[in-house]
Formats: sequence, structure tokens, C-alpha cells
Amino acid sequence: MKLLEYKGKELLGKYGIPVQNGIVAGSPEEITSKINKLTPPYVLKAQVMTGGRGKAGGIKFAAGIDQAEKLSGEILGMTIKDSVVKKLLITEKVDIKDEWYLSIMLDRVIKSPMVIFSPLGGVDIEETAKNDPKKLVKITVDPFLGIKGYTARYIFSKFGLDKKYFEDFALLLSNLYKLFTEYDSTLVEINPLAITKEDKLIALDCKADIDNSSLFRHPDIYEFREGLDEDVLIKDARKYNFLYIPLKDSSDIAVMSNGSGMLMSCIDLITKTGAEVRAALDLGGGATRERIAEAIKIIFKDKITKYLFISIFGGITRCDEVAGGVKLALEEGLENRKIIIRLEGTNKKQVLDILDSIGDSVIFAEGITEGVEKLASIRSTR
Ligand code: GDP
Ligand code: MN
Repeated sequence: MKLLEYKGKELLGKYGIPVQNGIVAGSPEEITSKINKLTPPYVLKAQVMTGGRGKAGGIKFAAGIDQAEKLSGEILGMTIKDSVVKKLLITEKVDIKDEWYLSIMLDRVIKSPMVIFSPLGGVDIEETAKNDPKKLVKITVDPFLGIKGYTARYIFSKFGLDKKYFEDFALLLSNLYKLFTEYDSTLVEINPLAITKEDKLIALDCKADIDNSSLFRHPDIYEFREGLDEDVLIKDARKYNFLYIPLKDSSDIAVMSNGSGMLMSCIDLITKTGAEVRAALDLGGGATRERIAEAIKIIFKDKITKYLFISIFGGITRCDEVAGGVKLALEEGLENRKIIIRLEGTNKKQVLDILDSIGDSVIFAEGITEGVEKLASIRSTR
């Protein structure tokens, strides 16, 4: 679960990490009613889940209220890397002397948290990492020891940083680590970690990613997710623990499978035929009749989706359950929709009988390739 900047900063604040005063608003009226709480000048920041907002025009400075209101109107509604800006964070602008980069992420290879630091933070960190890798350090943290003083000391001595920032930095790093572990994060990133003209450290930006499986432990994050302006089908799917991924709006094909790897293979093969995929649904585990039926109903709630390609592969998955689920969904009547299904697993032989009884809205395929071919051919003859 990725967090928007303002939510991430709320967590930073909770852990004693300095952030700017700010307000969040979704409309010009809301801005007008809240902006008085802040002292100008302001920074206006598009709240979208992508980085590089600064470079994309999603971060603007305003000297006073009038300018802030005018520029807000330009940012709200703009599209940054496919995301429409629905919310704006307005903060008090700070004067900065320097920008550092600091993050903690879960290193899945070493299976430990890793601290990443660079004295060259800011909007060009990707280039720094590529062209000047010596200006970036990665330090593995022993999860049984946590962050110790030596981690901050190592960073300071490696880059020859001014010792007057040491105490503040060491405290900030250990608080960030506390947040990282207590919130079951896979990433918490502060870029830039700014040094103000008054020699204070302050987090000007925050990216955070919380392990989805831990959300039951974090009601505040759960609530944040529910409040996000997401596709209703994503939310519907989540109720059943399905992952619904909207893809190309121009297409009328959806794909459903039990596993992300196979889902991607199916999408690739369909794309190779020159078609595009509108949406993908990962069933996760437990392909029971009821779950399959619910998943199909969710897919077809999108009226533009006309074709559903299903590929289920499982040792213990019972094919008759899957076929039964298809039948159950179709009992509710899905006119003008076609399902192409490929199944592998227990009781496969019974499947054909079940599918036969459904009629010609369901087409059986022996393998993914055959299924994709059949999909292409029925679409071309419609
Ligand atoms: P990003 O481009 O999505 O990473 O957005 P950031 O929040 O990191 O902002 C981009 C850049 O804007 C930062 O690297 C800063 O240089 C600048 N910036 C953001 N907030 C402030 C601020 O309060 N004061 C000043 N002087 N610059 C800021
Ligand atoms: Mn940033």
C-alpha cells in the first residue's frame, strides 16, 4: 500500500521527524477556507503516487494567497504520469541550504532492512545513483540489533558531513527506523531531507509503502486506503482479496488467473496478437465456485468488457469448481459477453460437461496459446 506524501508525512510527524506545516485540500473552496492556517510563502504539491512531480510541474511555489489560489487551479486536475491530481498539499515554504537523500527499504535478497543515504538528494537522485554511485551508500541493518549510533557515524565520516548536524540526524534516522518497523513498511523515503538556513533538518517529501498483509494492524492506513479515490472495481475486488488491475481503456478484453506470473503471460500473449487488455484480475488462492463467480461478476460490471480470458492452473484447484463458478456467474445473465477458458487441474474431465451445459458464451481451450488464438478469431468475426 503506497501512501501519498501527506499521509507519509503524518507518520513522520508521529515519530518526531520534522515536517512543514501544511494543509490538504481537494477543491479551490477548500483551499480558500484552510490556507489562512499557514504563513506564506507556500509550496503547492500535487498528491499523486508518482515521483518526479517537481519535474512534471506538480510542485509550484506561491508568494501569497492570491498566487496560491491561481496556481492550485492549474495543478488540481492536471495529469502526472497517468494520475489525475485530485488532492493538493500546501505547505509553508522553507529556505533550504542543502538537500540530502535518506531512505530505509526492505532488501528482499538479504532479507533485512537497508538504509540508503546520499548527500546529493533532491530531484536528480536517480541520475546521481547512475552517474555518481560513490555519492550513495547502502547499509544493511541487522534486524536483531536495529539502528545503532555507528550507522549515522559511518554516513557522516564517509561523506565528511558537518558534525553539527550529527545529533539531529542520528535521532531522525533511529526514529525513521522505528516507523519503518512498527508500520511494517517496505519503504520509507525522505527526498529531500533538507537542511534549512537555520541549520535544522526537515523532511520536505515522503514516500512510504506499507505491506498490504499488515493492514489489519494499522487501522489508520486501512482507513486511508478506503478513503482513496480508487476505481470501484478495485475496491469491489479487494473485498474478496482479488487484485484488480485496470490497464488499457481502449480495449474490451479482461484476463483472469490464479497467480500474477500466469496473468502476465496471458497479457503478453494477447498483446502479441495485436490486441490490448483492458483489465486483469488475480484471484490469488482458493479458486472456489463462489469466488470464481464473484470475480467474473466484478469483471463484467465494466460494461465495455466483452471478452474474458480465464486461465487457471493448479494442482489442487478443482476444475469442476471453476467451471461451476463460471456457470453460477452466467446464471445471472451476461448477454453479449464471451468467456474463453483454459483449465488445468483435478477433475478436468468433468469440466467439458459443465461448460457444454452453459452454451456458446463459454469457449473451452486446451492451453493458453489455443485460448489466445480462439480469442483473436472470435473477436475478428464479431
Ligand atoms: P518530487 O519532485 O515528487 O520528489 O517532489 P518534492 O516534494 O521532493 O519536491 C521537489 C523539489 O522541490 C525538492 O527537491 C526541493 O528542491 C523543492 N522543494 C520542495 N519543497 C520546498 C520548500 O519548502 N522550499 C524550497 N526551497 N524548495 C522546496
Ligand atoms: Mn522528492
